[in-house]
Formats: sequence, structure tokens, C-alpha cells
Amino acid sequence: MESGAMYTELDLFIGGERIGSALRSGEPVLNPATGDVIGTLPHATRADLDRALETSARAFKVWKRTLAVDRAKIMRRAADILRDRQERIAQILTLEEGKPLRESRAELTLSIETLDWMADEGRRSYGRVIPGHTPDARVLAVREPVGPVAAFTPWNFPALTTLRKISGALGAGCSIILKAAEETPGTAVEIARAFEDAGLPDGVLQLVFGVPADVSEYLLASDVIRKISFTGSTRVGQNLAAMAASRSIRFTMELGGHAPVLVFPDADIDKAVELMGGFKYRNAGQVCVAPTRFFVHEDVHDRFASALTAFAANLKVGDGLDKASTMGPMANLRRVDAMQAMVDDAKRTGATITTGGERIGNAGYFFAPTVMTGVQDAARILREEPFGPIAPIMRFSGMDEVIARANSLPFGLSSYVFTASERTARIMSQELEAGMVAVNSATVSLPQAPFGGIKSSGEGSEGGIEGLQAYTQTKLVVQQ
Ligand code: NAD
Repeated sequence: MESGAMYTELDLFIGGERIGSALRSGEPVLNPATGDVIGTLPHATRADLDRALETSARAFKVWKRTLAVDRAKIMRRAADILRDRQERIAQILTLEEGKPLRESRAELTLSIETLDWMADEGRRSYGRVIPGHTPDARVLAVREPVGPVAAFTPWNFPALTTLRKISGALGAGCSIILKAAEETPGTAVEIARAFEDAGLPDGVLQLVFGVPADVSEYLLASDVIRKISFTGSTRVGQNLAAMAASRSIRFTMELGGHAPVLVFPDADIDKAVELMGGFKYRNAGQVCVAPTRFFVHEDVHDRFASALTAFAANLKVGDGLDKASTMGPMANLRRVDAMQAMVDDAKRTGATITTGGERIGNAGYFFAPTVMTGVQDAARILREEPFGPIAPIMRFSGMDEVIARANSLPFGLSSYVFTASERTARIMSQELEAGMVAVNSATVSLPQAPFGGIKSSGEGSEGGIEGLQAYTQTKLVVQQ
């Protein structure tokens, strides 16, 4: 066990002022590996939210006029501070979310790289010079920051989802009010402190917590907010998008997925098992782009199923602070109950559980890495996002058939293809209805690349130049 892992003091961060749990009522924060209370989270009052909105409007005027090169310096400084504190923040992240420490470290590395990348990209937010309609006309399309942003982040990647939104907004010149997940607030608190220590002007980044629906409704109703960015479930995202549409404000939605994995008979099966097994059980499967529907060609089905079963059975499930653990607990009890219900339903509809299938112990929220075969299309797990450590494996025989099955759901986030054929790779990257297609790879999350879904999986991208432009609006200037 990693000795001396300490949680952090939790605060709201409004107008440059920290408001702790002694001053506001709130809720307890639990360690999902033990169920123990590790902190008390203050909730923002209506008056706090009003102050955050006023401050955000004022801070926007300051930040948008700050030179891009100076904005980048502050963002880079915050990145350096986070790097210095990375080990401590990784422990806080594991304490509140449960994932193994090495995953928390890796999440922070990617998050900090995203901050560096957006700091630099903000310096390259160019517009266009357009041919004029008269000899003297100057016609320009310029990019401006869209305005104060309200952002809502989930508990499964408390650093990455948070820093993607903060980096895009700040890089573009926007102020941002962040409501991070109440289940994993410590990481967001540490990130806010790093920006404070880096010299970010007061109010450019503010952090609030509360009852999610109350906070989002209140912020979205305010004329101050010009853009929202949400990561979380499709149901909540669609409600927030409807509210944004009613005010004609911009939104980016990163919602649920149900990623198909297509394993063709010419694939390197060992590599497919290693990459997809590693990805499937990362963060106990609570990843929006996790592989969740395994379609394996009938010629290699049995070999793949037994290798993935062995991979899952060999995982060491335990407290994320324990160096030996390769999979931690689920983040909350809701997920454990959801996993059990999906397993029971799949069994009823004829699936065979080849490993796992049940909760481990009663302390903490551990669920065994699970593999199931013979899963029928009617099973809930093939229609609802599992968001947990379960791998359902199905057989296929033809290319058209597997494309149709892969595309049959309303989701369209990520998809994975394993094949040695250039032709199959090309056809799949064209035909799969997904915002991201990885071929012989499990990597879809890179600072320099757009990350996002289509269909019910979302709208817009985070990361890459698209992730910066999402916080800008275009203005036409015609000067005669
Ligand atoms: P949930 O829908 O209650 O909450 C998901 C997230 O949205 C939480 O962080 C929550 O704080 C926030 N949220 C909920 N209602 C909100 C509102 N009205 N306004 C603003 N934020 C709100 O579900 P849950 O039980 O916490 O998680 C289960 C499901 O959520 C999963 O099945 C998965 O589909 C989805 N989820 C997706 C992601 C992702 O990365 N896309 C992350 C976490 C959860």
C-alpha cells in the first residue's frame, strides 16, 4: 500500500476566494475502495452562483484582452505546477475515484500535455483574409472567444475531462465556471489551485459544486453564459443541449458510447487481446470510449474468447493505492448494482459467463472482471452502455453483417478494428458510424487530435484545433 496518501481540503473557488466546508453545507466524499468518508464538500448557494456569474462576465473582459502569448505563459506555468504536484494529485485522484495509481498518473500526464498543447495552440488562433467585392475592400473572418463558459465534468476522468475544458476555454480567451463531479472533487480543487498559483487573474477560472441539476439549470438560465461543455450520460447531455438551444448558445457534448470491436480472422489475435483487454478493464471499464461489444469472426472466436477470459481472470482487483492492483473498484455503488443487473439479464437471455460475473466482497465497490459469450442481441448489455468491467463476445461471419450490427445502436463514439488487411481497414474506417475509429490500436485520446462522438454520443470535439475553435466564434469584418 502506498503509505501516507492524503486527501485534500475541499473548497469552492469563486472570484479568487476559497470557500471551505466550514462555511457551507454540502455532502461527504467517499473512498470507493473502502466506503470511508474522506472529505466534506461544500455546495454553492444561489448567492455564490450569482457572484460566480458576475465575476465570470468581468473576468472575460480582462482575459480576452490579455495577449495570447501572455495567456499561454500562465497556462504553461499552471502545467509546470501540476507536473510538480503530479504524484500528490494522483493519490488524491485514486483516493476519490478508485483507479490504480499508475492510471491516475497516466491520466494526469495526458491532461497536463493537453494544457500545454492548448496554451500553444491559442497563440495560433488565426482568421482569414477573404477576396473583397471592390478593389479597396478588406474582408476578414476573425475568430473571437465566445464568452463565459459553463462546464460540467464527470467522475470517471476527474483530471482529463476537467483540463480539456479549461484548456480549450482559456486558450481561446474565455472565462469558465466549472462544476466538477461531486464524487471526485479533490482533483478539480487541486487543478484550480494550480491556476491560482500560476497567476491566472481572479475569476477567469471558478469552481463550484452542488446538486448537479440545480447548478446547471441556474447557470444555463443566466445571460452571462455563452457556451456550455458537458461530459457525461446521453440522457443528461440531451437535456442540457435542449436548454442551450432554447437560449441559442453554443454547446459541446461528450456523451455515452457503446464501442464495437471488430476482430477479423487475419488479425494479430494476441495483440488484439492485449490491447483490448488492457483497455476494457482500465478504470474498471468506466470509460466512455471503452470497448464494449466484441464482434469476433467465427474462425477465431474461441481462441479470442479463451485468451480474453485468461486476461481478465489474471487481473488483480484491489485498492488502487496498492501497487499490486491492476484494477480498482467501481466509482460508486450505483455502478456495482448496474453491473449485477446486466449480468443477470444476460444470463437469463442465454449468455455464458466465462469469468467473473459478481461483486467481490462487501467493503468497497469491487466487481470482478467479467467475460461473457453467446450474448443475444436482445440482452440489455448490448443496447445500454455498460460502463463497467464486462466484455460481451459475439460471433460474426460476414463483413456486411458485422458492419450492420456495429452500426445498429444510436451511439457513435469510438470503434476498434483488428485486421492485417489494408482493404478491410479502409472499408471499416469509412463504414463505421463513429466519431473515432482505431485500427490495430487502442489510442483515440491525444492532445493534438479531435475527440468526440456522432449520433447520440455527442456534438463537437475536444482536443486538437477543433477543441480550441469550439470556444471561438467567427466575426466577419468588411471595411471599405
Ligand atoms: P448521471 O447521468 O447521473 O451522471 C453523469 C454525470 O453527469 C455526473 O458527473 C453528474 O454529476 C453529472 N450530471 C448529472 N445530472 C446533471 C445535470 N442535470 N446537470 C449537470 N450535470 C449533471 O449518471 P451516473 O450514475 O453518475 O453515471 C452513469 C452513466 O453516466 C454511465 O452509464 C455513463 O453512460 C455516463 N457517464 C459518461 C461519462 C463519459 O465520459 N461520457 C462519464 C461519466 C458517466
